[in-house]
Amino acid sequence: MASQQETDQQVNDGFVVDTEDCEARELAYRERGTSRPITVVGNPVLHRECRDVTEFDDRLAALIDDMFASQRTAEGVGLAANQIGVDLKVFVYDCPDDDGERHVGYVVNPVLEELPPEDRVLDDSNEGCLSVPTAYASLARPDYAVVRGQDADGNPIKVRGRGYFARCLQHETDHLYGYLYIDRLSKRDRKDALRQMEEGTPRYAVVAND
Ligand SMILES: [Zn+2]
Repeated sequence: MASQQETDQQVNDGFVVDTEDCEARELAYRERGTSRPITVVGNPVLHRECRDVTEFDDRLAALIDDMFASQRTAEGVGLAANQIGVDLKVFVYDCPDDDGERHVGYVVNPVLEELPPEDRVLDDSNEGCLSVPTAYASLARPDYAVVRGQDADGNPIKVRGRGYFARCLQHETDHLYGYLYIDRLSKRDRKDALRQMEEGTPRYAVVAND
């Protein structure tokens, strides 16, 4: 029988409170976790939709810990489970917004909420990805995003962000449906990003492609 569990993310009005105690919370996750190498473009796990999480157990909590540890090692602002080779819909983030406010959290089974067209303001900024190491490209995305999903106990949660943090939420959700940001670029810009990757050397451990 399931007991009433204390959830590890605080919720206010349905939205996760992800700006409080960021330092302590991020440290607690990554100290329990183990850092793993990052998968890169070409690895099949990055190019297909991940499986929905159906078991809200200790293994899920341990995965989230490992993802925070890996994110820190690779100096990322967000990380999806398939970026450490795990075929499950989970992402974590440690990302500043445009006001410099830090957001720390995770979402299980994220779904990006559709915004009404009149609310869509595109922001054209530089984007990069741990799975396309050393490459950057300019990409227009809506400057506001809401993601619905679940916490590690299966409770429904929502996360919202603006500016750079909204970009992060969209980028990480894309990962879990098999899309990299370079898939949203023009052919020419995509090719340029892949060339940047060829010419650079990642500062963290990556999984070699076959
Ligand atoms: Zn990425």
